[in-house]
Amino acid sequence: MKTQVLVLGAGYTGMMAALGVARRTRDAQVTLVNPTDRFAERLRSHQVAAGQTLGDYRIPALVAGTGVRFVQGRATRIDTSRRRVLVADVELPYDILVYAIGSYTPPVEHAFTISDPGLPEFLRHATGTFTVCGAGLTGIEAATEIAEAYPHLHVRLVSQGEPGAMMGPAARAHMHKAFDRLGIEVRTGVSVAKVLPDAIDLGGGELLPTDGTLWTTGVAYAPLAASAGISTDEAGRIVVDQALRSVSHPSVYAVGDAGAIRQSYGVIHGTCQSGIPMAAHAAQSIVRQVRGKQPRPFRFGYWHQPVSLGRKDAVIQFTYPDDTPRRWYLKAKAAIRYKEAVSSSPLKFYRMSVPLPARMLGMTGGRRNKLPS
Ligand SMILES: Cc1cc2nc3c(=O)[nH]c(=O)nc-3n(C[C@H](O)[C@H](O)[C@H](O)COP(=O)(O)OP(=O)(O)OC[C@H]3O[C@@H](n4cnc5c(N)ncnc54)[C@H](O)[C@@H]3O)c2cc1C
Repeated sequence: MKTQVLVLGAGYTGMMAALGVARRTRDAQVTLVNPTDRFAERLRSHQVAAGQTLGDYRIPALVAGTGVRFVQGRATRIDTSRRRVLVADVELPYDILVYAIGSYTPPVEHAFTISDPGLPEFLRHATGTFTVCGAGLTGIEAATEIAEAYPHLHVRLVSQGEPGAMMGPAARAHMHKAFDRLGIEVRTGVSVAKVLPDAIDLGGGELLPTDGTLWTTGVAYAPLAASAGISTDEAGRIVVDQALRSVSHPSVYAVGDAGAIRQSYGVIHGTCQSGIPMAAHAAQSIVRQVRGKQPRPFRFGYWHQPVSLGRKDAVIQFTYPDDTPRRWYLKAKAAIRYKEAVSSSPLKFYRMSVPLPARMLGMTGGRRNKLPS
């Protein structure tokens, strides 16, 4: 009997985990579940928003020939006692479950979110002022991409904190030059009380008129795990042990944005940079488990913050493992090439016939480490 490995979510990390198991062993049947059959390049959501057409990558084609079975549908219930997951009206069994359903920006009335299918069409016909709320990496990348694609629009970036606060001063200065060049108005120290159809309400009677709004602050996590009784943190991410297994249900691995794993510097925040090594590590651990061995602990340190500033500029801040900035950064052409390499690398990994070990994808270390008993 083959071990049934069920992977929920075929985004960056679910795809990596599914292929990582299937390419390492024939003793497991891997089933991959995703609501759409198109692979969503979330790293490029801001490019889609600004009207660019991406490659059309279909999940069945990406997994063809690997033994991974693809099921199109949304998982709506996990029954941990019977080890079954409800997808549409079909129950899929598992021995090992990989939870890789990512995160999303909760919708806000009168505002678009970055993956809103109506946003590219809206921008194509937009005039006047377009306001981007939130100046984290998504807000910065969206504002610059939109300002470059639609130079007739007045793009405004509104945030509580400094844009790019996580970068060092030199990288931040380069980012501000890009804002100036693209004519982006930056309003900081601003707390948005409400988005209205034609204005941003800052509370206390101050209104910023706008002809359209993009909301980029905050991510949320679907309640699928929590409602199944799997231990989650307050946000809804599965709390995992050092081997990426749920602390309450060890047959469940969580990877990517939907997993909360603590390292010495804190809980890893959702990025592909961390999620892809997590998924590769989970795949290795699952194969070890299938072969009757113990999984190994996962260790990770950040090394960069790649930020595009439209198609013609970018900035890469190199970091210490805890994601604080080092002195080194890249800008302009070198940074554009670097960012593109980052954005295109996951699809290259999926096409490799040999799975990459997690330690080649990040500072995972831990090869000889033993799990604390
Ligand atoms: C504009 C933007 C730029 C970014 N740039 C970078 C960057 O430069 N570097 C970096 O490291 N990170 C970057 N990120 C973050 C990165 O995209 C995420 O951390 C990454 O996508 C997380 O991967 P994931 O597999 O956990 O989730 P996702 O890639 O979001 O995949 C989750 C998958 O699960 C599916 N799913 C959801 N619910 C269910 C369900 N109930 N049943 C079955 N399937 C389900 C979804 O449809 C999706 O296909 C960026 C994000 C954005 C928005």
